[in-house]
Amino acid sequence: MSVLQNIRVVLVNTAHPGNIGASARAMKNMGLNQIILVQPKDFPSGVAIGRAASATDILESAVVVDSLQEAVADCGLVICASARSRKIPWPMLDPQQTAQKVVEEMDYTKIALVFGREDSGLSNEELQLGHFHVQIPAEEKYSSLNLAAAVLVICYEIRKVASEKNTHTQGQDTELWDQEFATGDQVEHFYRHLEQVMIDIKFHDPSNPRQLMQRIRRLFGRIRLDVMELNILRGILTNIEQSMKRKKN
Ligand code: SAH
Repeated sequence: MSVLQNIRVVLVNTAHPGNIGASARAMKNMGLNQIILVQPKDFPSGVAIGRAASATDILESAVVVDSLQEAVADCGLVICASARSRKIPWPMLDPQQTAQKVVEEMDYTKIALVFGREDSGLSNEELQLGHFHVQIPAEEKYSSLNLAAAVLVICYEIRKVASEKNTHTQGQDTELWDQEFATGDQVEHFYRHLEQVMIDIKFHDPSNPRQLMQRIRRLFGRIRLDVMELNILRGILTNIEQSMKRKKN
């Protein structure tokens, strides 16, 4: 099976460089090769190199960025791994469903698998950047896996489904959708535009936001906007702005 090219693993704010190395090793074992590190606490690091064993090439090509938003800016599918469920429930997948979704879409769009900090996982804000959350089923009283172990479980499931696909669907036309999915960056611009218009029309009060933007993110995350749909919505927002300006004048 060839390398799973369009899939990246994103590690957020990792404290222990050994976990970065062990994650790189797990990825290479399973045929993934792109890692993005969001503000790692200690990287580059000899400890990471030691734990990566023969996967140091993945560490050498690791990209380091400042925010999760930056790490997923060009991705059309973002899946956040989380041991806990949060305040607002989010669309959830188990590892196998995650693998199925990833393998269905990996030929059409870039995909991010996002993993959180060793001590506190991912913040609510970071989790909201995911279209889906994945939880690895584990003991209720001790469900938090070591970071690299969590990376391994998800990558293993993806490899399993990808190799099944290789044997079952060769030569079949598996065209998924007539338009490309909007990327993280495009959708962020849309949210900002929508938020501004909602403020202008006095629907949204930023000093008393409640959970409006969170719910909007979940709504559009569930729909998975494609580029055409996104352009239609941006066009509507622009027209609302123009007609408000005309009224004022
Ligand atoms: N104590 C943290 C867990 C941190 S473990 C918390 O409660 O959120 C570090 C990372 O490994 C997590 O952020 C998550 O991305 C991943 N992880 C660990 N256990 C997991 C599980 N059971 N399911 C999904 N992801 C898990």
